[in-house]
This record gives sequence, structure tokens and C-alpha cells, in this order.
Amino acid sequence: MQTSIKFGSKRSDWGALFSYYLFFFYFSGITHILLQISGTTIFVGMRQAIVMSLLWLIPVMLVPRFSRQMAAGIGLVLWVFSLISLGYFCIYGQEFSQSVMFTIFESNPAESKEFIAHYFVWWMIPVLLVHSAVAFWLWRRLRPLQVTRRLAWSATVAILLLLFVYPMFKQLVVNHASLDDAVEKLQLRMEPAVPWQMVIGYVHYRKQLANMEALLEQNSKIPPLSNLKDANAGKPATLVLVLGESTNRLRMSLYGYQRDTTPELDAIKDELNLFTNVVTTRPYTIEALTQVLSFSDQLHPDLYLTKPSLMNMMRQAGYTSYWITNHQTISKRNTMLANFSKQTDKQFYMNNSRAQNSREYDENVFEPFDEVLADPAPRKFIIVHLLGTHMKYEYRYPPEFEVFTDREGVPSVLSKDQAKVYNQYDNAVRYNDHVIATLISKLRQQAGNSLMVYFSDHGEDVYDGPGYNMLGRNEAKPTIAMYAIPFMIWASPEWRAGHEMAFDGMLDRPYSNAHFIHTWADLVGLNFDGFDPAFSLVNPQFKEHPLLIGDPYQPNTIRPLDIHVHE
Ligand SMILES: [Zn+2]
Repeated sequence: MQTSIKFGSKRSDWGALFSYYLFFFYFSGITHILLQISGTTIFVGMRQAIVMSLLWLIPVMLVPRFSRQMAAGIGLVLWVFSLISLGYFCIYGQEFSQSVMFTIFESNPAESKEFIAHYFVWWMIPVLLVHSAVAFWLWRRLRPLQVTRRLAWSATVAILLLLFVYPMFKQLVVNHASLDDAVEKLQLRMEPAVPWQMVIGYVHYRKQLANMEALLEQNSKIPPLSNLKDANAGKPATLVLVLGESTNRLRMSLYGYQRDTTPELDAIKDELNLFTNVVTTRPYTIEALTQVLSFSDQLHPDLYLTKPSLMNMMRQAGYTSYWITNHQTISKRNTMLANFSKQTDKQFYMNNSRAQNSREYDENVFEPFDEVLADPAPRKFIIVHLLGTHMKYEYRYPPEFEVFTDREGVPSVLSKDQAKVYNQYDNAVRYNDHVIATLISKLRQQAGNSLMVYFSDHGEDVYDGPGYNMLGRNEAKPTIAMYAIPFMIWASPEWRAGHEMAFDGMLDRPYSNAHFIHTWADLVGLNFDGFDPAFSLVNPQFKEHPLLIGDPYQPNTIRPLDIHVHE
């Protein structure tokens, strides 16, 4: 049926208008349609994508003379963003979210590049090409738009009312929400449509960044621990806390894995106190370490804002503190980790050579570690933050650590490519073994009064059973491999002579590392108001608590991890 009449007429071309709408909707809709088909999510996102896509009709209706050119310009922007959300769907079968963006921006550029390289699979190219071809075909079909002025303006007003005015009115007037909450709700409504996912995600991220700068300021104002007592007061000591990365203890021979992934630690096993049931709460670096290094836990995620951190505690106890990291460049971005690092006296940021980009080995930390050990300060507290076995695994170890190359010990269901990644992870674990053992040997050589604790921030599922089909981490689909972390204590003979280090009956306690600050305080002889022996892994008064996982900011996702399920 003829829906338009010839150029110059006073009538509107509804068919063309719909073609324009379809073109704009396509960029958000493609992922939402796939999400609906795969039954991944509820319909709300789809509905919002349908509604929000109306927005782009406004400019083309108001300036119909350049409607095709404007559609091309808008389409180009939407296309770029849709590539990201579609690509993300291809990998995870899920919707792109702000937390993904947070993870990407939190990492340094080299890490982000690896993140993308790690998840890239060949068939995404044809998928994205077809997607682009469909977009182009939809654009080619667009005719110059004819709308009457009256329709253009009344439609514009109607769209603005529907998209912005009504939702704000409803929140502010009907629901009596605050302006902040109303804006937040509006942003949530916009998020399902491109480019708002990323734009709003980025705005939120920038807001967080400013918050982090404020964090440091705020941290400086937190009152110190009251009644801090130090059983080792005045005694020279070197206390080392090694924060590992993405190392799943189930892949360490030290913990019974059948491949020889930790020969150097195996060789000094009798010097180690090996804890066998420690888990992380969150499978993400920042979220996990925020709890590890503060009083925050799954039920009280914000205590890091009001109570001293582990770094504050050690400074208060009179230790000179150091932060050596191979994890993040000093890009002057005050992210959470930078905030933590700045709570120590001296920082060493070892991963700042942009030219070297992704290939960085943890041996980077040896030189500053030697330097700090040689520092004449009598009481030292050193945090070493490793890149550990973070993806991309093959970039984590030098060629001489490429030990596992064949299929022996690899689950037989894995494809050739999967087996390669499986081997690379084991090689990375083996190099990590070398790094930890080297740090211990440096401490041993120093022959002082010293203590070292090593654990990983979280695990990583690298085709671990059952299923053998998961690579990486995903809080929405938790597996034991993402949460099972190594946890060990090494102490020098001098330290052992002065402290009870048998840990009888303690080594297999189920323990959530969110409460680590109590364990650390206990180990190094600190006591204060608020210290809770029930949360200390090494205290006779320890009590077993549920090992809570999930996102504490979405309390309905909080649940206990059953560590016995897959072991
Ligand atoms: Zn991590």
C-alpha cells in the first residue's frame, strides 16, 4: 500500500519513518533478541531497548533534509557500541554490564588488551561482519524522510515525555524519590540501549574514580584502632604479605594436583604451614582484595570506608610499610588498588613499561624486594602484589617454564586449543611457584625474624571439572575453581622460635579470606578493640562461619559456597 506521496507534499511518510526506527533499533535489538532467544534474561531490557531507540527519530524528524546522512552518523556510533555488546554476548552469552566496564577500566591498557585477546575466537569475525552487513543494508533502504512540521514537533514532544519527563515525574512526584535516585532510575532505564550501556557505565566509572580520590582523603581521617597492643612491640621483624592473582589451588601439586606444577614449594613443604580450605568471597581482584585488606566482608561491604585498613593498622603498629606491585601501572589513576598502595610509606609500581605491554613476568618484583629487604628500617611490612596466573597465561612465564606441552594430565574431553590453554595455565602456575619460592628464599637468606603469608586473591576456572567447559571467572556461574585459593605461611627459624607455629587442627578449617585482617593481626601479635578471634584462622577460639559468595551490593545473590561439592 502506498504510504507516501511525492516530494513536496504536506503529508508524512510513515513507512520511511518506521524504516528509520528499525535501523536505530537494530543496534540495541540484535543483542536483546539473541538474549531473548537464548532465554538469558527477562523482557525488561528488550522493552527499554524498544522504547529508547525512539530517541534517534528526533534529530532525523527535525532536520528531514539530512535524514539519511544523520542516520548514517548516528548509526555509525551505535554500530561501534553494538559491536561491543554483541561481541560480549558471543563470549559470555550475557548482557554487557557496568561491572564488566569497571573491570576493563580498572585494568591497565595492556591487561585490557589481553582480556580481549583472551576471549577472542575466530567465529566472532563472521558474526560481526554479518551484523555490520545487516546494519548497512538497513541504512541503504532508508529513503529521505518526509514528515510534516506538526508531526515532527508533536512526535518529539511525545518521545521526550515518554522517555524522560514521565519517568522523572513518576519518581519525583508519585514515588517521592530524591533527585539522585530518580536520575539513577532513569539511567537504569536507558542502560539496555546502545550507546547508553557504555556511556552511563563510563559516567558511573568516572564518578567512582572521583570517589576513590576522596577515599584516600577519607582514609586519612579514619580514627586509629583503639587499644592497639603489640605483643612484638619494638622487636625487629620483616613481615611480608604476598597477594597472588588468579591461582586456583586445585592446580598446584602442593595441594595434590597430579601434575608437577609446584616443584619448588613441594621441596620446602616442611617449612610451610599449608591451609587447605581457604576460599575467596568474590572472583574479582578489587572486590576480593578490598575485603582481604580491610574489615569489610560480604555482610558489611562498606566497612573499609570507616575502619582502618590492614595497611593503616600496620603503620599504627609502627612498621615501615612498602607496596611492590607488578599488577598495575602508575598511571596516576587513583583506582582502588592505587588507593590501597598509597596507604603504605613507599610504593614500587613495576608494570609501567608501556612498550613491553602484555608480557610481564613477576620476577619484576625481585629487585625492589631485595631493595626493601636491605632497607635499614628495623620493622618492615611489605605487600607484594603479583600478576600471578592472570590471563593471558602464556604471557606470564618465560620460555624455560614451558614445561607442560602435551596431553598427559589434560582432561581428555578438551579440544586441541583448550588443551593448549590448559597447559599454559599449568605453566603459569609453575612459574608462580618459582616466584613464591624465590621470595621465600630471599627472606631465608636474610636470616632475620621474618614471616610471610601467601594466598591468591581468587581462583580461576581453566577447564576444571566437572564440565570442563569454563574458562575464566563468572560470579553468576560460580565453580569451586574460581574460589579455591592457596593459603600458606612461611616463617624464619628465628620467628618460629618465638611464636607458636604448629597450627594443630587449624590447617583444614573452612575459612573465608574476607576476614583475613583478623588472621593477620593474630599472626603478627596485634590486638585491639574490634579484633575478633572467631574470625582468625590461627586462633583457638576460631568459629566456623558460612563461606559467603555473591555480590554484597545485591544481597539476594549472597549464599554460602559448598566447598565439598566438587572435591
Ligand atoms: Zn584477581
